[in-house]
Amino acid sequence: MASRGEAGPGRDDADSERGRERRAMVRQQLQARGIRDTAVLAAFAELPRHRFVPEAMQALAYADQALPIGGGQTISQPFVVAEMLELARVCPGARVLEVGTGSGYQAALLAEMGAQVHTIERLPALARRSRALLQALGYTEVALRQGDGSLGWPEAAPFDAILVAAGCPEPPPPPLLEQLAEGGRLVIPLEAGGYQELTVIIREGDAYRRERCEACAFVPLIGAHGWPESGA
Ligand code: SAM
Repeated sequence: MASRGEAGPGRDDADSERGRERRAMVRQQLQARGIRDTAVLAAFAELPRHRFVPEAMQALAYADQALPIGGGQTISQPFVVAEMLELARVCPGARVLEVGTGSGYQAALLAEMGAQVHTIERLPALARRSRALLQALGYTEVALRQGDGSLGWPEAAPFDAILVAAGCPEPPPPPLLEQLAEGGRLVIPLEAGGYQELTVIIREGDAYRRERCEACAFVPLIGAHGWPESGA
């Protein structure tokens, strides 16, 4: 659980314009489209998304869209992030790996939900910025590493859930499958012949069961078990 004391990062602006925009986002973009997990909804209601986007983009922080965060990368559309969190079925205390820290927003949501969060970002500048922001907002227990997340984080495994926030070729990275706990859930956008399909892979002993969800569009996962750097 994140150790932030009584004053959480969003509580101070609950009555402000940003607070109102955030509540509207939760109602209109998440609840109206079927997000039901109360822990997911509460985390979105709490977290100041505008702090995770560049200053020039803050007026759009609660809009129904992905936004650029630098380095050619994006913070995903709120609904897509909520859907991934709901599919991951994160419980308080769960060990969770996120691949693709980006802005740090999803990692902070996971911490709000009480998960033990490990997150990996490939790009050094984004990793530095997210680490500083997560610290500043009080998410001191989020473990963040810069590197190739397609290799997972073997020393911290097994994970109850792994969320990959970047589009991945088939087959899914073997290290991520190996690092799932029994019953663990890998939520991953997988290449499906010209488009990506958000997929949940559930570990059942030595077997892995797949549930296909819906078409999606993420930036590419670049790494040893992802796309090559130039050909993505
Ligand atoms: N979850 C992020 C957030 O809340 O802002 C959004 C992630 S963004 C859609 C995808 C991120 O994955 C980018 O920051 C990109 O640099 C990163 N990425 C791509 N390949 C990666 C890899 N092999 N390991 C770690 N991060 C990777």
